[in-house]
Amino acid sequence: MFNLKSFFSLSILQACKIQNLAREYCKIFAAQTRMIENFGSELEFLPLYFIYRPARNIPYATVEVELKGVYLHYCGLDKAGSLVVKERSEVAQKCSSFQHWIYQHTNGNLLFTRLEGVDTIMTNIGVSVKSEGYQGFPCRANPLVFEKFQSQHQCNYFCGLLGLRPLKVTEKLRAAVRPKASQSPQPPCRADNGQCPQTQRKSLISRKKKENISENVSECPS
Ligand SMILES: [Zn+2]
Repeated sequence: MFNLKSFFSLSILQACKIQNLAREYCKIFAAQTRMIENFGSELEFLPLYFIYRPARNIPYATVEVELKGVYLHYCGLDKAGSLVVKERSEVAQKCSSFQHWIYQHTNGNLLFTRLEGVDTIMTNIGVSVKSEGYQGFPCRANPLVFEKFQSQHQCNYFCGLLGLRPLKVTEKLRAAVRPKASQSPQPPCRADNGQCPQTQRKSLISRKKKENISENVSECPS
């Protein structure tokens, strides 16, 4: 047996750790959405595996099951660090609600800032942390994206199903309503249109392999 640590670059190890940690949160989210009758197909997140390619310049790479179907980028960060929702499908809305969920679930300390894949099967998750070292994620802090997310996120039908609290309560608004506002907790956010998007069928996953260089995996600033 070879010594893994001596062969793997730090970036690959970090990428693997990020993906594995993120996947654990994804499992919790999936389990929660499974309990909601109207949520429809749950989001799934692929595990990553290593392969050793001695003839390549980069001998190690992460490998994931190839997804059969159209690969879509549901959301990501633009150059200014703002979250961009790139699709308006039901799956994209679930991704957006997943971001809201992880933000609330971690008290505003963790965000999945890149979600992409085929239909409800996600891979190559991008992670941002508010403060360095949070939950062992090997990422530098990126607090700006959290501020932007708080002002940018628009709750949708699935945020409502999950009972997530609205985010767009700025200090200015709080000050404006403080004299009249009660101390009761904020109500769960509602769907924008109150309608349930059509359920989409899950794509089948082939057993073919796809190489995915892990250097592109992490959303964390290097
Ligand atoms: Zn929301």
